[in-house]
Amino acid sequence: MAMNAALQRKLIETVTGTVIAHADDLTALDQAIGDGDHGINMRRGATAVLEQLSDLSAKPLPDALKTIGLTLVMKVGGASGPLYGTLFMTLGKELPAVPAHADIVHALGAAIAAVKKIGRSDVGQKTMLDVLSPVQEELASGGSGLPARLRERAAAAANATVPMRATKGRASFLGERSVGHMDPGAQSSSLMIAAICTAMEE
Ligand code: ADP
Ligand code: MG
Repeated sequence: MAMNAALQRKLIETVTGTVIAHADDLTALDQAIGDGDHGINMRRGATAVLEQLSDLSAKPLPDALKTIGLTLVMKVGGASGPLYGTLFMTLGKELPAVPAHADIVHALGAAIAAVKKIGRSDVGQKTMLDVLSPVQEELASGGSGLPARLRERAAAAANATVPMRATKGRASFLGERSVGHMDPGAQSSSLMIAAICTAMEE
């Protein structure tokens, strides 16, 4: 994949723009099964990333991703800040400046493993991992039409968190009452993946 300043700028603008545009929806999801701050947290992080747009666009991809990760750790807060921060920092550590498909598969795998480690969490607990992991699987399967397939897989995976019972994070305090609501972090992951795919398709 040929990365350049223009594409990097577009990716950052699209992803942060999507998070900011959907902040209220994410907060509403977190009001149902958490403390109602996920959209506020994510918007704060996205805004801080957007403030560095020119700088981040000019950096080599790995450096840009590391800076984004660090910014998210510092600005997002909550459980999701360190987790998304780790995800992006690990992508920055693992990806070469000009990644091929196999590099992205590997880096996303490593980033998900890092999130699991610091979250002491795994797939099936009604978290962002329930979107990130199936998306990584779909990505690894390769083939044509990947952006559309990844977007659909992410949306389906976020929907699939609705009937799940949360066993990690704040939603787990609700036990059975967490059933019937989409996980906010699963939805923010799905939205960011959709934004990346759309930017790559254009
Ligand atoms: P907080 O729960 O501290 O208020 P946020 O509301 O910003 O933080 O983020 C909540 C989201 O973070 C959840 O919806 C879930 O997807 C994700 N999450 C929480 N704890 C974990 C964990 N241990 N592992 C993976 N994801 C988690
Ligand atoms: Mg919250």
